[in-house]
Amino acid sequence: MTTETTQDPATAGSNALLAKWDGPYGGVPPFDKMEIAGLKPALEAGMERSLAEIDEIAKSTEPPTFENTIAAMERSGRDLDRVFTFWGVWSSNLSTPEFREIQGEMAPRLAEYRSKITQNTELFARVKAVYEGDEKASLRPDQQRLIWLVYDGFAHNGAALEGEAKERYAAINQRLAQLHTTFSNNVLADEEGYVQYLTKDQLGGLPPSFVQAAAAAASDRGREGEYAITNTRSSMDPFLTFSDERELREQVWRTYYSRGDNGDEHDNNAVIVEILQLRDERVKLLGYKGYAEWRLENRMAKTPENAYEVMNAVWPAAVARAKEEVADMQTVADAEGAGIQIEPWDYRFYAEKARKAKYDLDSDEVKQYLRLDKLREAMFFVAGELFNFQFTPVAEGSVPVFHPDVKVWEVTDRTSGDHVGLWYLDPYARPGKKSGAWATTYRSHETFDGVRTVLGSNNSNFIKGAPGEPVLMSWDDAETFFHEFGHALHYFSSNVEYPTLNSGVRDYTEFQSQLLEHWLLTDEVINRYLVHHETGEPMPADLVEKIKRAAKFNQGFATTEYLASALVDMKYHTTDPSDLDPRAFERTALAELDMPREIVMRHRSTHFGHVFSGEGYSAGYYGYLWSDVLTADAAEAFEEAPGGFYDKDMARKLVDHLFSVQNSVDPADAYRAFRGRDAQIEALMRDRGFPVE
Ligand SMILES: [Zn+2]
Repeated sequence: MTTETTQDPATAGSNALLAKWDGPYGGVPPFDKMEIAGLKPALEAGMERSLAEIDEIAKSTEPPTFENTIAAMERSGRDLDRVFTFWGVWSSNLSTPEFREIQGEMAPRLAEYRSKITQNTELFARVKAVYEGDEKASLRPDQQRLIWLVYDGFAHNGAALEGEAKERYAAINQRLAQLHTTFSNNVLADEEGYVQYLTKDQLGGLPPSFVQAAAAAASDRGREGEYAITNTRSSMDPFLTFSDERELREQVWRTYYSRGDNGDEHDNNAVIVEILQLRDERVKLLGYKGYAEWRLENRMAKTPENAYEVMNAVWPAAVARAKEEVADMQTVADAEGAGIQIEPWDYRFYAEKARKAKYDLDSDEVKQYLRLDKLREAMFFVAGELFNFQFTPVAEGSVPVFHPDVKVWEVTDRTSGDHVGLWYLDPYARPGKKSGAWATTYRSHETFDGVRTVLGSNNSNFIKGAPGEPVLMSWDDAETFFHEFGHALHYFSSNVEYPTLNSGVRDYTEFQSQLLEHWLLTDEVINRYLVHHETGEPMPADLVEKIKRAAKFNQGFATTEYLASALVDMKYHTTDPSDLDPRAFERTALAELDMPREIVMRHRSTHFGHVFSGEGYSAGYYGYLWSDVLTADAAEAFEEAPGGFYDKDMARKLVDHLFSVQNSVDPADAYRAFRGRDAQIEALMRDRGFPVE
């Protein structure tokens, strides 16, 4: 069923999704009035208005200036932005079949709308004139950076091309979009097409919950009474960890790591070659030496050499640690009289045995100290100490919410009492809500046309307890809760003038949130907030110690399997692809790295979706390590400070240089201003328990 509604802007004007926000706190989204029937007309009217605004800027007869071009663009698209706030809530928090139908219909139209702006040659000519003009030198650094970001958004994506080159560029993009889809469909086909069915006598070692899920998966496939091991990570990983059937482990392992590499109609080897060749051709049209140079230019790492430097520095330590882990596991296997040499399909199985012997953490015991409401208070405490923010619940009903579970707090400056924004928390799982945890904004900070305060939100999937019962969570969930709150604090700290300056830099935006996770294990938080939900006693020191030690467990394996993929990704994108065979390429690359024979790449080439199903992480898989280095190094800055993690001077630097500036300063400069130097890789080594020379 589709909702047929008129596109008449007059009608759309009465649409709550499109209306200007009123009410307290500089206006709040009318979540109590959102109706799905209004979505399509609101999107249509929003796009129409936005394009009209862009057209006015592009067709202006005035000479191009910062104010009439760049600032005017920052001002455009406001109506559509508001509709997207509701779109985001439907998509993530309240999805329904009706919404997904509209989403399917509107997604291509939104893509078309966006390319109407990025391919607007008159608009780009004006942006380019401002970028190259004399006025720029007289502007503030943040305004100059804004000009560069806007210009680069066009130029980096081919807007400066003309004639044949422009046509070829567009053709390449179209073909790449097809190939990326083919790649992921092939992986999916191999995930769905290979299922291992087990009988009751083949379940040795598997936990009951896994057996139950495998039985359900088999019966879904019409194989009642059997047990299905599907060809996905969530099935493979626990199977290899727990199954004591060694031959089956090998079979499951081989099937999983052969995805996309079976020489059949779903084989991805040829797809990879064509993708790499087209990417190379496309960036050469733009005048770049190779794909990785193009990709990293506007990342914090800036060049492939910088990314390689970090990866190559960590690699030997990761491999050395993996060898120790293998030796430990071999000891366990020998003691059992297993009579085997550790193979890749034994790694998880014996690692689990080693873990149990060395670091056994009772997750249920840990949980007793992790109460949702106490952790929320802990986050508010940290926000107060570091950011000088105060969180106060708003009166029930004073701010509209889209579900009764959603609660709202006002964020103010603890000293001045000034209003900073509103924090929305949607903590519980429910049908129609996507899984996992995330943070987002309904409105971002800016000041250039008057102050807009932040509306930030955190979203989780905790299971609601019975009335009066506390909600307890796992250690991983507690870390994630802090992590996502770190994103929210990043939004609330913004002091930038223009909306675009709130945008993220891919290898940098997870850093702030990862850093905040470190406050969970500070004594102040442990003693006041990680308290037993019945006795009120703080988490005992030996349990805290166990948690810290467990974090360093199996880092050789985890780092090696990840880094092998990151290095091969970068190698693909810094190699001439004209005569390339992925199988041989991967084999040679790993041999050159001296990859331990017991470990395989986390994602082998033929199923490396991060890199070949799209371009989000192509020549960018290194980014996880990059932000881990920053995180570890920044955490050490606090450890070394006189006041530790609550040092006032460090906290001020944190806010001034790492949080408030967002993307108005080059991240590398911002980090140097915070630390007095670049981040050092050794901090990451220590964090993972690797030896440091
Ligand atoms: Zn994050």
